[in-house]
Amino acid sequence: MGAVRRDRIVRSGMRGQKGVELAQSVQILGVRVDDVTMDEALNHAQQMAAQGGAHQVVTVNPEFVMRAQSDLVFRQVLDEADLAIPDGQGLLWAARVLGTPLRERVAGSDMAPALAELSAREGYRLYLLGAAPGVAEKAADVLQSRYPGVQIVGTYAGSPALDEEDEIVARIVAAQPDFLLVAYGAPAQDLWIHRNQPRLQVPVAMGIGGTLDFVAGVRKRAPAWMRRIGLEWLYRLMQEPSRWRRMLALPRFAVRVAEFKFMGRRNAS
Ligand code: UDP
Repeated sequence: MGAVRRDRIVRSGMRGQKGVELAQSVQILGVRVDDVTMDEALNHAQQMAAQGGAHQVVTVNPEFVMRAQSDLVFRQVLDEADLAIPDGQGLLWAARVLGTPLRERVAGSDMAPALAELSAREGYRLYLLGAAPGVAEKAADVLQSRYPGVQIVGTYAGSPALDEEDEIVARIVAAQPDFLLVAYGAPAQDLWIHRNQPRLQVPVAMGIGGTLDFVAGVRKRAPAWMRRIGLEWLYRLMQEPSRWRRMLALPRFAVRVAEFKFMGRRNAS
């Protein structure tokens, strides 16, 4: 638990159960986060695509970690993910405080367009699921003009409601994507992927929160300087004040990390 660096590893080329190289990971309040850079994360995605089968990528941020403290199903989904990228400056701060620094923030909102770029270059097939009606189509247009040749083999808003699952799964299976990006917000999107991957068998499925809104230009992302100094949350709060309740998770996270560090020290002495 906590600050233990767990060597799931494999810089030396060992392979995990599904044959994909595993990343070195750290534990933040009991939640696994892989210490990958963006380049390495994209490499993992390529390995998973080459290998086929069903894999899941999760974008761990402080809200995820706090939710996983009480929601054990969500925690298990995060734990079973094939790749858990460090999304959020708060997570990098926590890792540093706990003595197991992560090298780089890999935001899902950056990785999703990077997967589109990779798809354009390597011929992977991309499917965009979620967001409000029309947004995925708009995002697809933007990605197509930004990365000419990218094969977007489907877009669909749908919803994470159980009674829509069969229809959505059928659509995706028919489209045969290599990468599936799901924008239903956390934890719904991550639970949705976990529940449906046995039927979907998409090589890489990833929950991407509000990314389609950003790509489509429906919502603005915080400017780079705010992201760099860890103020993305403030920008989002200013844009959507109704998020304040959800955002209480952030100070709670900071307190828990500080407590953990203090208790860890006390135990060690
Ligand atoms: N969303 C959706 N269906 C739902 C709930 C959410 O399509 O039932 C979409 C919503 O339109 C938005 C995304 O999921 O595009 C969630 O964005 P949010 O910023 O809340 O996610 P976060 O990044 O905080 O996980």
